[in-house]
Amino acid sequence: MKEIEDILKSENIKYNEPMSKHTSFKVGGPAEIFTYIDSISDLKKVLDLCKEKKLPITIVGNGSNLLVSDEGIKGVVIKYTANEIKIDRKNGKVVCSGGVINSVLAMQLKESELSGFEFAASIPGTIAGAIYMNAGAFGSEMKDIVNYVKYIDISTGEMITLHNNKLEFGYRKSIFEKINGVIVETEMQLHHDDKANIENKMIQYKEKRLESQPLEYPSAGSTFKRGEDFISAKLIDEAGLKGYTIGGAQVSTKHAGFIVNTGNATAKDILELIEYVKKVVYDKFNKKLEIEVKII
Ligand SMILES: Cc1cc2nc3c(=O)[nH]c(=O)nc-3n(C[C@H](O)[C@H](O)[C@H](O)COP(=O)(O)OP(=O)(O)OC[C@H]3O[C@@H](n4cnc5c(N)ncnc54)[C@H](O)[C@@H]3O)c2cc1C
Repeated sequence: MKEIEDILKSENIKYNEPMSKHTSFKVGGPAEIFTYIDSISDLKKVLDLCKEKKLPITIVGNGSNLLVSDEGIKGVVIKYTANEIKIDRKNGKVVCSGGVINSVLAMQLKESELSGFEFAASIPGTIAGAIYMNAGAFGSEMKDIVNYVKYIDISTGEMITLHNNKLEFGYRKSIFEKINGVIVETEMQLHHDDKANIENKMIQYKEKRLESQPLEYPSAGSTFKRGEDFISAKLIDEAGLKGYTIGGAQVSTKHAGFIVNTGNATAKDILELIEYVKKVVYDKFNKKLEIEVKII
């Protein structure tokens, strides 16, 4: 589309871009127009253009919690990649852009001897994705450290700031499920600790993941949310589903909560397997599994 080429550099626009390149599951058909946008001004211009042309918009982060259909995505996909990090060591605060990668931020916070973000160091996504999902691990979640979030409202182009108490953080969810917005910035509150302590925590967490998770295969992490009174992975395991395979999609033999792509899975394989697992668990235990992965 000619007009978008007047806003973004040509290397930041990809036509018919396979979403399998942008998701940790490594599945997903082509995005009609895939864009990397690294500034608020370009973001606003692209949003205006999409509005004018009535093009549907899909926002993605690092694609580590996404299952994109084999048919792909119509319209414009926006990956917001601004990655500025400003650390105020004295007050234990960090302000960063939505496109910052969690592991990159974690390393910088460690160097500044600021603690509180270690849990997210090996969650393979962006800060914006972590806020949207209220990502969490090892007893901590984004809601524990976020002070405020700034987002651009997609329909008005306005920048809006929401403080923690307005973000409706819950288990793997936030107000952004209900808002049509692009998360562009956040401030987080951390606390001082020794670099060695921070590093040790990060190493321990990483080792725990390596022990228990099938990181050698593409996946989107836990496929299902934890239930209110049950652990989804435990029920899937007890239902004898570890290793159950449809096409290239498999219930991990290492961690029943993960569906993995054994090499040539399609989104259809994964969706069928999700439905099968839900059905078996419901029939056996009368419990409804809810998926954590976002389906596009
Ligand atoms: C191996 C593995 C381990 C994992 N472990 C964990 C874990 O321990 N804990 C955990 O919580 N999750 C875990 N996950 C899931 C995933 O990493 C997190 O949900 C992560 O926070 C998603 O971030 P992302 O940038 O990849 O977002 P994406 O997957 O790209 O997107 C997730 C959602 O956020 C929205 N979004 C992304 N960016 C923006 C933006 N700028 N503005 C508005 N909306 C946006 C998308 O539209 C989508 O709805 C794991 C995944 C993998 C593959």
